[in-house]
Amino acid sequence: MRVNFDANASIKPIPEVLNYLASYGGEFLNPSSVHRSGQAAKQVLDQARAAVGALLGLKNSDKVIFTSGATEANNAALRTTSPASQGFVDFACSAVEHSAVLEFLRQQAGSQYTLRELSPLEVENTSQLRDYLNEELRIFALMAANNETGQIFDVKKVAQEIRNISPRARIHCDAVQAVGKIPLNFSELGIDTLAFSGHKLGAISGVGVLIVSEHTHLEPWIIGGPQEFGLRAGTENVLAIKTLEIACLAAKKRVEAADSKVLKAKEALISFLKNFGGSALINNFGETQLPNTLSIRFPGIKADDLVVALDLCGVAISAGSACASGRPSPSHVLLAHGLSAAQAKETIRISFEPDITSEELEFGLTTLSQSLARMIHLRRAA
Ligand code: PLP
Repeated sequence: MRVNFDANASIKPIPEVLNYLASYGGEFLNPSSVHRSGQAAKQVLDQARAAVGALLGLKNSDKVIFTSGATEANNAALRTTSPASQGFVDFACSAVEHSAVLEFLRQQAGSQYTLRELSPLEVENTSQLRDYLNEELRIFALMAANNETGQIFDVKKVAQEIRNISPRARIHCDAVQAVGKIPLNFSELGIDTLAFSGHKLGAISGVGVLIVSEHTHLEPWIIGGPQEFGLRAGTENVLAIKTLEIACLAAKKRVEAADSKVLKAKEALISFLKNFGGSALINNFGETQLPNTLSIRFPGIKADDLVVALDLCGVAISAGSACASGRPSPSHVLLAHGLSAAQAKETIRISFEPDITSEELEFGLTTLSQSLARMIHLRRAA
């Protein structure tokens, strides 16, 4: 048996997507072609835009732009050519953003612009934001939920304060980990752009979305034909976009039904950890967390060793973000929460797939228990 306790990295394509792919007969051609096959492909794009709109409460005037994934969508939303302010903060974001936001802003800032990386506490304490930012701010980015800790941010409240501080700042939200897991309404958030990714929802990988509100102006980031509102040229990945549509429709149903399967799995994990002989510390950062995610520290046990031990027994977990795997440096997210480098290296993330079964949960928890017991025994014997 192999179970995926690393759903925040990716989930399997959902059964509806696999059924669709099994029946796919190669029907779509280029959506820009005027002939019937082209128009059928264009219809797929229109239906997928409608499904994204329904999932995230979009207005007709909001643009849904298909991308290769959330990294591209985040980069595109944060790109600017406007002149730097003289000595003020030009860009700001939370220090716990995914590298698709943080590294992009750092690189773009270079020596020309000033970037302020706010700690999670600074972001949450909205009344203090004026102490760090002023009307010169151009770009503000805040994720809806963190991929490593599951912390949910109050994007609406923070966005309101940013508007008061700098009415012209562009506000972007990386909603990769929130879409399909918790209710999210783009229009109510009061932001300008939002990014998410298909493979976290059960579509195939290689497709993502950037939502751009009516009054937001972005420069094209791929130059060529007029596809995707003239912002991202090139023939769209129609098949992947079709799977995104299917995944969005399923995600909408799941969120509306307030499906508690993952929450029950998380509760079972928490009670396992409480009863577990060795010490296990849960990193409960912020007021609310995603229902499927738990960040846990086992003092004295290296997270990388536990990841390998579990993998050998058929259970996939992670020691932080998939994009940072293999890097020797500790997680920037955990450091921003005040953990030491050593504590960060003892932290694992468990995140459940929406359709987790009781057999998978039991197998995963038993395997975790056995692997931990073995590692604790070896450590004591050493
Ligand atoms: N943002 C967050 C919060 C993520 O968790 C990820 C992927 O792990 C990304 C962005 C990047 O998404 P993609 O893999 O679609 O480029």
